[in-house]
Amino acid sequence: YDDRDGFIWMDGQLVEWRKAQVHILTHALHYASSVFEGERCYNGKIFKSTEHSQRLLKSGELLDMPIPYTVEQINAAKEAVLKANGLTDAYVRAVAFRGAGDEMGVASLGNPVRLAVACWTWGAYYGDAKFQGAKLDIAKWKRPSPETIPTAAKAAGLYMICTMSKHAAQAKGCSDALFFDYRGYVAEATGANIFFVKDGEVHTPLPDAILNGITRQTVIGMLRAKGITVHERHIMPAELETFQQCWLTGTAAEVTPVGQIGDYTFEVGALTRDIATEYEALVRS
Ligand code: PMP
Repeated sequence: YDDRDGFIWMDGQLVEWRKAQVHILTHALHYASSVFEGERCYNGKIFKSTEHSQRLLKSGELLDMPIPYTVEQINAAKEAVLKANGLTDAYVRAVAFRGAGDEMGVASLGNPVRLAVACWTWGAYYGDAKFQGAKLDIAKWKRPSPETIPTAAKAAGLYMICTMSKHAAQAKGCSDALFFDYRGYVAEATGANIFFVKDGEVHTPLPDAILNGITRQTVIGMLRAKGITVHERHIMPAELETFQQCWLTGTAAEVTPVGQIGDYTFEVGALTRDIATEYEALVRS
């Protein structure tokens, strides 16, 4: 994705897409000192831009990597890069990382924390699954304990097992993989949170070892505003067969119905369709 026209915002300026490069001794490449955001711009407005910028700063703090920009500066960088690329409907990727510096080793306090923002057109994350219901594999890897890695950070290091699990899922003809966590509870997909419906009520994992997605929080608010009971709780895999509907939420995934997880099947029901439609309307309003 490096050889194309366009502009990327890097460390305070817009640079040509092909020239947005880093040195091979960039600390992040070796030690995963990198945090990022995925956002979507609809009709010229980034949905929850400030919340994403705040989460980026928080992720940096959690990795002992303070990002030298304010929320306002990050918001402005995102606007600038969208404008430079002439995009009003796009995916926006901000990434902050430790660059190359005085020393090369695990310690990185002498390495500058850098920030880049790119944007590009990105349609439905799961393609046709958006309408028919995605098929999920069950990942062999487990989401780690918050005592193992800062699970509240949207940090590159947390995605190593996501990439491996997604490859395994795609090799089996699935769109994505569902993780269980280190305790065995149902957790999240490789880039999205998960919701279930049982007898008109909604159940979703407690965000105590997963990313508490901005879309997840938005959808919980929408459901409660409709008077629907939402249970945020620990969910055991054995319960999967008791749920009637299932969907994923995420900035890229938006609200995507799930039709199958391993051997369990779900209907793309009325509540799933309603929430997907209402989310679509909300982000464009
Ligand atoms: N979990 C993981 C692992 C993710 O990568 C994402 C995407 N950022 C989500 C959940 C959903 O988060 P959000 O709704 O903030 O995009």
